[in-house]
Amino acid sequence: MASVTLKEVSKSFGAFDVLQSIDLTIEDGEFIVFVGPSGCGKSTLLRTIAGLVPVSNGDVFIGGELVTDVPASKRGIAFVFQSYALYPHMNVARNISFALETARMAKAEIRQRLMKVADMLKIGHLLDRRPKQLSGGQRQRVAIGRALVSQPQLFLFDEPLSNLDADLRMEMRFEIAKLHAEIGTTMIYVTHDQTEAMTLADRIVILNHGRIEQVGTPRELYDRPANRFVAGFLGSPRMNFAPISVDVSSGILQGPPGFSFAISNTGNSNPATLGLRPEALRIVEAGTPQSIRGTFERGEDLGYEHIAHVRISGDLIWTVRSTEPLSRYVPGEPVGLGWQIKDLYLFDEAGTRVDA
Ligand code: ATP
Repeated sequence: MASVTLKEVSKSFGAFDVLQSIDLTIEDGEFIVFVGPSGCGKSTLLRTIAGLVPVSNGDVFIGGELVTDVPASKRGIAFVFQSYALYPHMNVARNISFALETARMAKAEIRQRLMKVADMLKIGHLLDRRPKQLSGGQRQRVAIGRALVSQPQLFLFDEPLSNLDADLRMEMRFEIAKLHAEIGTTMIYVTHDQTEAMTLADRIVILNHGRIEQVGTPRELYDRPANRFVAGFLGSPRMNFAPISVDVSSGILQGPPGFSFAISNTGNSNPATLGLRPEALRIVEAGTPQSIRGTFERGEDLGYEHIAHVRISGDLIWTVRSTEPLSRYVPGEPVGLGWQIKDLYLFDEAGTRVDA
């Protein structure tokens, strides 16, 4: 069993609180992804689980056992870093098997494990090469192989694909997902790439300023974000926001020009911001009833889709994702933005999502 439980884990560097009372339970076999803005504490959290960073407070359990004071080497984990950290003077075979040799494992067993891993990662033909004779993607496969061969109860990945180009990232992402499906070992993966988070994770943990904003399946976080931060974090282009106010006597929300909507429960919620995702909007003729008024600024043709930038007011520019070409719209021309109630998100003053 390699579940992971964090109980009120905090970490400070001097006066700076990097992690603030983190509570989290990861089930055996889960693929968990930590995401969040740069500096939010993702890597530090991963390192506290690894035992590479001592916690200031709280406890870490792996497989139900308290490991807070257990050194990293005794936690049964394997860590894959962004910088592959391969031994430059050893060939691929030795890079992968070195830790097993050090642990005095029988030669035949080492050989068997090495070949199995090489086969799984399709690096059998590279075993005699040195790291400098490998491409970035091949090096990362070797680094994963080295982690795999020790048969850990827990895999930790810290931005393993950041140094690879887009094609290779996609290929390796697929390989890592396949690996997880094959071996079923618990994996915790840090990234700032939301595509990786959305496609790899059983559950995503969104961190911000050393705290957990929300934990859930990719779908849950995308469709039912707990707050404005989560809503704005997942999605590219990100969700469009605009300030709104509610007329308490009528319950009518007032926001961007042309927007009007009567909320049903004015009593217990006080929406301050509305959110609509770019794919929930469509450009319609200016003046179309119920449409939000804006000015077409610019269109971007990405080949498979089109992104329109529409000025709503002042500095407020929204994006619209469209499958239709935007060439017929002229910059500076008024347009309408159609939207549907089912796609409307509302957030209160504190940023918490409230029902529409
Ligand atoms: P990124 O996405 O940029 O890698 P992250 O979310 O992984 O960021 P961490 O590396 O966990 O963030 O760092 C969190 C904060 O803690 C940062 O502000 C960082 O500067 C600080 N920090 C990390 N390690 C140390 C350290 N050893 N001493 C002092 N501050 C540190």
